[in-house]
Parts: sequence; C-alpha cells; structure tokens
Amino acid sequence: LEASDRNTDTAPPAEGVRLPNGMTKLPNGIILDKDGKPCRACNTKSAFSAFAAQATHKQSKTTAATTAAATQGATAATSTKPAVECPPDVAQLGRSSWTLLHSIAAQYPETPSSAQQSDLASFVRLFSRLYPCWVCADDFQAYVARDTPRVASRDDFGQWLCRAHNDVNVKLGKPVFDCARWEERWRTGPPD
Ligand code: FAD
Repeated sequence: LEASDRNTDTAPPAEGVRLPNGMTKLPNGIILDKDGKPCRACNTKSAFSAFAAQATHKQSKTTAATTAAATQGATAATSTKPAVECPPDVAQLGRSSWTLLHSIAAQYPETPSSAQQSDLASFVRLFSRLYPCWVCADDFQAYVARDTPRVASRDDFGQWLCRAHNDVNVKLGKPVFDCARWEERWRTGPPD
C-alpha cells in the first residue's frame, strides 16, 4: 500500500490486540507492521483486502480498477494470461513454514552430531526472530523461551515441534494434532 493508506484512525486498539512498540492505533482489528502499514504476513488475505478497500482513495482506485477490469475482460476473451501471484497471507505463510519445519525434523538424524544439534538449535532461535509475521514471531519466541527446543534426536525434535505447533493450534482454535503421529505425517506416510 501507498503511504496514503497508513492508519489515521485514533481509536484505541481492540482488547487483546498487541501492536509494535510505539504504535497506539489500530483500524478494524487489522495488525500493523512496525512501519505502521498493514502487515500482509500477519493478516488473512480477506482482512487485508477489506482494509485496502476502505482506504481513503478507494474511489479513485475503484474507477481505475473498473477500467482495468474492463480492459482485462476484453483481453481475457482472446488470451490465456496466468493468474496473478500475490505475497503470502498469514495462513499461506504458516502452512509453508510448518511444512519446512516438520520436513527438517523428518530429515534430522536419529543420532545427530554435536555440530548438527548446535546448527538446529541456532536455526530455530534465528527462525523465531526472523519469522515474517511479527505477532506469530513474538509468540513463537516466547514458546521457545519456556520450552527449549529438544535437538538430541530426530524424535526429540519432531515431538518438540509438534508441541510447538499444537500451541499455535490451540491459540487459533484448531484441533490439537496427535504427536504420536508426527513421523507418519511428515516422514513415512501412512502404512500401505
Ligand atoms: P497448519 O497449522 O499450517 O498445519 C499444516 C499441516 O500440518 C496440517 O494440515 C496437519 O496435517 C499438520 N499439523 C497440524 N498440527 C500439527 C502438529 N502439531 N504437529 C505436526 N503436524 C501438524 N497464524 C496466526 O493466525 N496467528 C499466529 O500467531 C500464528 N503463529 C504462527 C507461528 C509459527 C511459528 C508458524 C510457522 C505459523 C503461525 N501461524 C499463525 C500460522 C498457523 O499456524 C497456520 O499455519 C495457518 O493458520 C494455516 O493453518 P492450516 O489449518 O492450513 O494448517
């Protein structure tokens, strides 16, 4: 979004909503990034789009979009353009990230060397600090601080990661995953 899309709402943040340091405003529950713009990676695509539609220059955007859509519609009739690819929202980013993390657990040795253990511990710590959704990262860092990543073996790490994932599942009201099945889900696949 442009600078003109920045929040000018003076309402206090909704209860339970956290904002980056120094931020005191929040429009319609949308999570803002540290620069005050809506955070794509912290919101669902629908919430992000709804906010964008409310931006002050909605009218001019709509006019431009209508013209563009009319042009595209005419073009679409005669060409097969690929679908537009957008940056990930919080759910897309999350699914891809869990896939990477659980796949790392699946390929981790049963008896890792001390260098491999140290690499994995560093990776998790850095991942928790660099994760692009800052609200997710804050909670994940807190989780890592209260339940230190277990890196002594593949199963230790797989189980730890499953618990960490379940912590997020509970927060989001999703079903808790049975951690006895983590390896079947992420390494071996179901039995024939
Ligand atoms: P996902 O939760 O992405 O799971 C993908 C697949 O993993 C599932 O289909 C299932 O087969 C398997 N699975 C589920 N649970 C487990 C488990 N415990 N162990 C092993 N496998 C499992 N979103 C937010 O809105 N707010 C947040 O604060 C937030 N924090 C996040 C923190 C981290 C570190 C990550 C990686 C993601 C976070 N997300 C957050 C995204 C969220 O966890 C989901 O990825 C997103 O909501 C999409 O969910 P989903 O239903 O597609 O399945």
